Amino acid sequence: MTDLINPATGTVFTSVPSLGLEETDAAIERAHRAFGMWRRVAPGERAELLRRFAAMVDTHVDELADLEVRNSGHTISNARWEAGNVRNVLDYYAGAPERLSGRQIPVGGGIDVTFHEPLGVVGVIVPWNFPMPIAAWGFAPALAAGNTVVLKPAELTPLTAIRLAELAREAGLPPDVFTVLPGKGSVVGQRFVTNPAVRKVCFTGSTAVGKSIMSGCAEQVKRVTLELGGKSANIVFADADLERAAAAAPASVFDNAGQDCCARSRLLIQESVYDRFLTLLQPAVQEFRVEDPSLPSAEMGPLISADQRATVASYVCDADVAFAGHAPAGDGWWFPPTVLLAHSTEDRHWREEVFGPVLSVLPFRDEAEAIRLANDTEYGLSGSIWTRDLGQALRVSQAVETGTLSVNSHSSVRYWTPFGGVKQSGLGRELGPDALLSFTDVKNVFISTDC
Ligand code: NAD
Repeated sequence: MTDLINPATGTVFTSVPSLGLEETDAAIERAHRAFGMWRRVAPGERAELLRRFAAMVDTHVDELADLEVRNSGHTISNARWEAGNVRNVLDYYAGAPERLSGRQIPVGGGIDVTFHEPLGVVGVIVPWNFPMPIAAWGFAPALAAGNTVVLKPAELTPLTAIRLAELAREAGLPPDVFTVLPGKGSVVGQRFVTNPAVRKVCFTGSTAVGKSIMSGCAEQVKRVTLELGGKSANIVFADADLERAAAAAPASVFDNAGQDCCARSRLLIQESVYDRFLTLLQPAVQEFRVEDPSLPSAEMGPLISADQRATVASYVCDADVAFAGHAPAGDGWWFPPTVLLAHSTEDRHWREEVFGPVLSVLPFRDEAEAIRLANDTEYGLSGSIWTRDLGQALRVSQAVETGTLSVNSHSSVRYWTPFGGVKQSGLGRELGPDALLSFTDVKNVFISTDC
């Protein structure tokens, strides 16, 4: 069993089983058998079952959100958005089974058609920072394309995934089509990599584990999608609406206590407005509301664990702190939003993914230097550009090496647009119209008309 701790209080509130190798293999075997049935469910019927699953999630948004507040320390407003996101992703991909068409390609002597066939059992491995949405971004398109799914939630945050699997059954999904297997990454997650019945691993987590999963999957030429770490840049040019950019900057990095792969944790400010921008940023950071995450007014809750708090603190202790916000004292894994001045691109807090409420700031001279600094990282997941100059916005958007980018905004994830990273931030895309195809193989069939 694994004890689960409420991050806001530091107390154990429940425990869940931690599955072993044999139970994992048995569940994969059941999912493999269920695949033969699920892939043959008529498209309209599969779509209807996914719509019912979405409706079931919709009627349980508050329950799922409350679970996430307790298990993960997410603010209640974020947790409601996350549960709603699961419903929306399911609804979106419920439109897919009837639209998963192949092609008819002109050939001589017959006809040639292609089919998008499901892969088989898909293993989805989820991190602890966004347990609900990241699970759904994997299981919804995989199920819609006709695969069965085994899903391993993170050890620290399994509760909402377990509940989602129950809701799927209540909505009418047949047994073993969607199974949640709580347990260790090195046991359950690793078995998704080595068990040949799993035909694809859809992994979200750290770059280090992602690399080991990719090399493990190579053994069986198993498909992988990797959504990994990030160190995204928020580039503020002198001509930007500085008030708006400063007001928006805290949420872009401190949301979910900075435990967000898309966190804009590197702030690049054009040097001519550097001092002014920091003057605007300071009150916005100090007013960021860090409090009991169950309060509707909370903008940030605690970190996920004592270990994570110690890791985050290790980046701040020797750094040049510009200013910091507030956090509750006492029990729980609290850490205040903190702004650090980088003195070189070699500063550890500038280079590494902190995964906590820490923002590193550096000035730049001109557009060319902004692009060079933004790209001086092994990551490439997300980012933002603030400018009123349309040409500059387009030039910089094209030059920054990243999978998703926003101009004069920090939005990066919409369930109907593609999401994913370049460089060591990942491989493949989730969400949007194309993700579905990554859960299929194309089969080409030639039918002779000569006989
Ligand atoms: P992690 O890599 O430690 O764990 C992620 C998941 O992998 C967990 O479920 C874990 O149990 C499992 N796992 C661990 N070792 C494994 C192994 N050997 N084989 C198979 N599975 C294994 O990451 P974390 O600490 O849970 O999450 C934080 C990381 O996730 C950060 O780096 C963050 O940037 C990244 N992340 C990326 C995205 C994205 O979309 N790009 C989204 C969220 C989080």
